[in-house]
Amino acid sequence: MDEATFLDPKFQNKHSVTSPEALQQLLGDLASPEFLEDVAAGFAQAPMNVRLSPYILSRIDWTNPYEDPIRRQFVPVASTRLPDHPGLRFDSLGEQDDSPTNGLVHRYPDKVLFLALDVCPVYCRFCTRSYAIGGSTDTVDKEGYKPKPERWHKGLAYIASRPEVEDVVLSGGDAFMLPARKLRELLMSLLAIPHVRRVRVASKGPAVMPMKILGDTDWTDALCDAVDHGRKQGQEVCLHTHFNTPEEISYISRDAMDLLFQRGVKVRNQSVLIRGVNDDPARMTTLVKRLSAINVQPYYVYQHDMVKGVEELRTSLADSIELERWVRGTTAGFNTPTFVTDAPGGGGKRDLHSFDYYDETTGISIYRSPSVDPDQYYVYFDPLDRLPAAGRRRWADPDEHARMVKEAVLAAGLSGFEPATPM
Ligand code: SF4
Repeated sequence: MDEATFLDPKFQNKHSVTSPEALQQLLGDLASPEFLEDVAAGFAQAPMNVRLSPYILSRIDWTNPYEDPIRRQFVPVASTRLPDHPGLRFDSLGEQDDSPTNGLVHRYPDKVLFLALDVCPVYCRFCTRSYAIGGSTDTVDKEGYKPKPERWHKGLAYIASRPEVEDVVLSGGDAFMLPARKLRELLMSLLAIPHVRRVRVASKGPAVMPMKILGDTDWTDALCDAVDHGRKQGQEVCLHTHFNTPEEISYISRDAMDLLFQRGVKVRNQSVLIRGVNDDPARMTTLVKRLSAINVQPYYVYQHDMVKGVEELRTSLADSIELERWVRGTTAGFNTPTFVTDAPGGGGKRDLHSFDYYDETTGISIYRSPSVDPDQYYVYFDPLDRLPAAGRRRWADPDEHARMVKEAVLAAGLSGFEPATPM
């Protein structure tokens, strides 16, 4: 096809692949029959829907799809799947427990997460919100967050009634999928609430469908107009995006980020640390530098959440800490991401190093989050296949599970505290 067709966001949406059959038809001889069978089995087991834009498919090296960092993020295969960790809970961050109205998460005193919709331009296998995003699959029924006026009104009314809320993260789902009119309406409604000082629009779009920023001028104008309107009123509107690998940055993403930079939109990046995708120093350092080069500030790198069906993508905390050592110092401090663990059970983001206790043999780390709840502790578990043999032996015995957690809590000096999620 010609370049203009490929750069048309409508073409990208219309021709996104959602089934193994469509993928097979598109790839033809580019991938082996064995690989395609593996993908079909992967689709059937995945808790997350699959949606692959032509752009994202074009970034995959089909001569070596098993090792490809973009394939690993978006195309499930059955053969590499590992059993979920026994400590996994489906909504591992406990978002539904902290929701005063459907699709509004209020955990930190001054910040809310507004889940405006439940669809995305592509679906990430490792999505923390796989409990709700992307529609039901063969293995999971999802209620989802539809962009319905009544639900949005309830969310906006809640924010308006809470003067302590200064910071709103607009997420989902992905704001990239909101029609321009709806995005404009929602952003302007938020900016009309005087105590809202900052609105962050969360979107993976720049990494997976950057041509929309260049080609869908209504959508880009809706974002930029809100940024300008907010600035005049002393309120910040910015874009938080989600690049995970250097391969996701193309000349199209560079042009899109240049356009936003010229129009005064601040863009920050939140990566997820994923095994085989960005977990070595050279790749993560390259990502950080390339982001800085296109004026996207590397803000966070998240320890991979405990998510159903993607155990082979998680790293151990020890590996992540070592990676952070290599990245820090390679560029300016303000372009050096903070590595964080989102404490399972609702503790929020904690600096990776700020655990009260960590046992590399059992893979158990214990965090506290006094600003969220001073009496609770939060437990994160390394993937079992990354543990030494002594640790794997203990996890093989179900009677040992609670005992290992208890030992870790005692060693942390937190025996009088409550667990955020019972083991
Ligand atoms: S774009 Fe964000 S919300 Fe959508 S699937 Fe990926 S991580 Fe989840």
